[in-house]
Amino acid sequence: MSASTVERVLRIEGLTARVGETDILHGVDLEVRPGEVHAVMGPNGSGKSTLSHVLMGRPGYEVTGGSVTLDGVDLLALPTWQRARAGLFLALQHPTEVPGVSLESVVSEAARAAGRSTEGIRDLLVAEANRIGFDERFVSRPMNVDLSGGEKKRNEMLMMGSLEPKYAVLDEIDSGLDVDALAAVSRRVQEATEEDGLGVLAITHFSRLLEVLEPDQVHVLAAGRIQAVGGPELAERLEAEGYAGVLAEAGASVGLPTGVSHPGTHEAGFGEDPFADPLA
Ligand code: ADP
Ligand code: MG
Repeated sequence: MSASTVERVLRIEGLTARVGETDILHGVDLEVRPGEVHAVMGPNGSGKSTLSHVLMGRPGYEVTGGSVTLDGVDLLALPTWQRARAGLFLALQHPTEVPGVSLESVVSEAARAAGRSTEGIRDLLVAEANRIGFDERFVSRPMNVDLSGGEKKRNEMLMMGSLEPKYAVLDEIDSGLDVDALAAVSRRVQEATEEDGLGVLAITHFSRLLEVLEPDQVHVLAAGRIQAVGGPELAERLEAEGYAGVLAEAGASVGLPTGVSHPGTHEAGFGEDPFADPLA
């Protein structure tokens, strides 16, 4: 197949996954095309972060079925760094602190790995920081160390802005941000969709993020499945009414699938996990 005929889409089909003995994702279908914004909302413990980790290939998350392709590339066959190189970016719900390593070094290393020049990376990061009203000194400080939740989230944004991915999964990028930072961050993401054709999968609990970042579709994930899909009005309804009504209409319940009864236990370490907080 020639490059020109490859369909540009991040396509998740029938994705099932487990963590340890527990099945968490029970068949997720979702498509994100360049320039589109897809919001994923859902109750705590419904599998949203699990989906993000499975897409990026976090150790400890086992795919048991289904497929994920990025512009025709079989993502699930690749190690995490090659998924990043293929154009996937994940902004973590809980960004990792990396003592002794600056954001500038991380982004430079990523550029090198992708065979790109590292020249001008500092200027790019500073420009990105200015774009979201963030202090440029965070570019050279040890990454995320001693930062507030909102500052860590803005660091994730600096990475997204400078790495120029094709598709970005943003796991609760809005949590911890004050009103001004939230506006700046959502504007930055929206601009990336318009200027660079970034496709976005935005996991969030709040319709506030979606006031500037205009979702093409809102997906409700509960009990490891997409239970309902709608337009931006669905996000507003969920925020106003909660999940119960929408899920009842869809014939689903808010509860966890049987066998899942231990929210919070996933903080335990995974051994050789590049996503893990080395100080935790
Ligand atoms: P969400 O992001 O939607 O709040 P998660 O994807 O973090 O939900 O978690 C979904 C379910 O999977 C929860 O019940 C959680 O406790 C469980 N889970 C996630 N990771 C692990 C893990 N490593 N070990 C055991 N259970 C886990
Ligand atoms: Mg989560």
